[in-house]
Amino acid sequence: MIYLDYSATTPVSYDVLESYLKATKDFIGNPNSLHSLGIKSRTLMNSAIKQISDLFNVLDSEITFTSGATESNNMALVGTCLANMKTGNHIIVSKLEHPSIYKICEYLTTIGFEVSYVENDQDGLIDFEDLRKKIRPETILVSICAVNSEVGIRQPLKMIRQIIRKENPQTLFHSDMTQAIGKISVNLHDVDMASMSAHKIFGPKGIGLFYKNSRVKIIPLIHGSGKSNELKPGTPPLPLIVAFSKALRMALMDLDKREAFVRRLSDKILSEISKLDGIICNQTKYSIPYILNFSLQKVRPETLIHALEEFDIYIGTNTACASGDISTSILALYNDRRRAQSTIRISISYITTSDEVNRFLTYFKTVYTKLNHLMDEK
Ligand code: PMP
Repeated sequence: MIYLDYSATTPVSYDVLESYLKATKDFIGNPNSLHSLGIKSRTLMNSAIKQISDLFNVLDSEITFTSGATESNNMALVGTCLANMKTGNHIIVSKLEHPSIYKICEYLTTIGFEVSYVENDQDGLIDFEDLRKKIRPETILVSICAVNSEVGIRQPLKMIRQIIRKENPQTLFHSDMTQAIGKISVNLHDVDMASMSAHKIFGPKGIGLFYKNSRVKIIPLIHGSGKSNELKPGTPPLPLIVAFSKALRMALMDLDKREAFVRRLSDKILSEISKLDGIICNQTKYSIPYILNFSLQKVRPETLIHALEEFDIYIGTNTACASGDISTSILALYNDRRRAQSTIRISISYITTSDEVNRFLTYFKTVYTKLNHLMDEK
């Protein structure tokens, strides 16, 4: 098997699974229980939280575990809007967000909030002047992802934060960091809130993280009992928390070394695939090397993906594409509907090998060229 869809999800690493199993077998108590089994579980949970807060240099109480980044994004956007209804009803997002952000925005407009979409330049960088102009006294939140999920465009969060602070010091700043964690270094002090997900960094599916600076007040979306976290009541999923902590510690190691290695692989893929007839490369100078995106002029992305699957090779498309919809990111970059309707995404990891890349390129060229010729004959 050659798996090149790491931005969709990653396999759970062996060490992470080990920590999940150990916490499941040896820590059966509910961390909310008063007895010794509960205390034992709670101690383990607190040390897992401490490991995470140390990694990001934040307070333990600033971390909330969620079911994934979708839930974290909901907490940030909906929670902030509900808490600040009296001060304003305006939020700003970029045109390069994950679909979950747009779905939340759609919902927020149905309950009286107004959403503005900040422009970006041709390479995907947020248009600072446009952001400045769009921030108003009633703007309560700006949400901009650290790394875009389709083309891997990286945004300068620190600079964006400075602009927001200057225009309206009351406006909060959230960043969806789901595709950034484990690929680039992030600083949670550049934002007020952030979203992450374990399954993108060789952790288990079903757990995410929501960071919120302690100064920020939001309304909880979930109400219930359990004293561990006011934003996420209920029994904490201890094995998932322990496994996530392990995955994060492993993901944040050697980022520069890993990136240099991944860049060599991605440069090779880029140069080989860009040469093929009917393929347009969608990378920009701000794309990180882990995520490669191409548009196909004749072959349908889903046809290519299923043809490669026959050889046990797995790459991605954007979820919208499969249903014939448009990739909002490609549209925001190139303003070309055709190009935005036919994208494929190849996402690499530091565990990808040169041999996998070479074999992938051999199969890809053969399969793609055959399909492209078939389209010519039609
Ligand atoms: N945000 C981004 C940038 C993502 O890439 C994803 C996953 N595709 C999500 C949010 C949603 O994450 P989850 O599957 O953990 O809910």
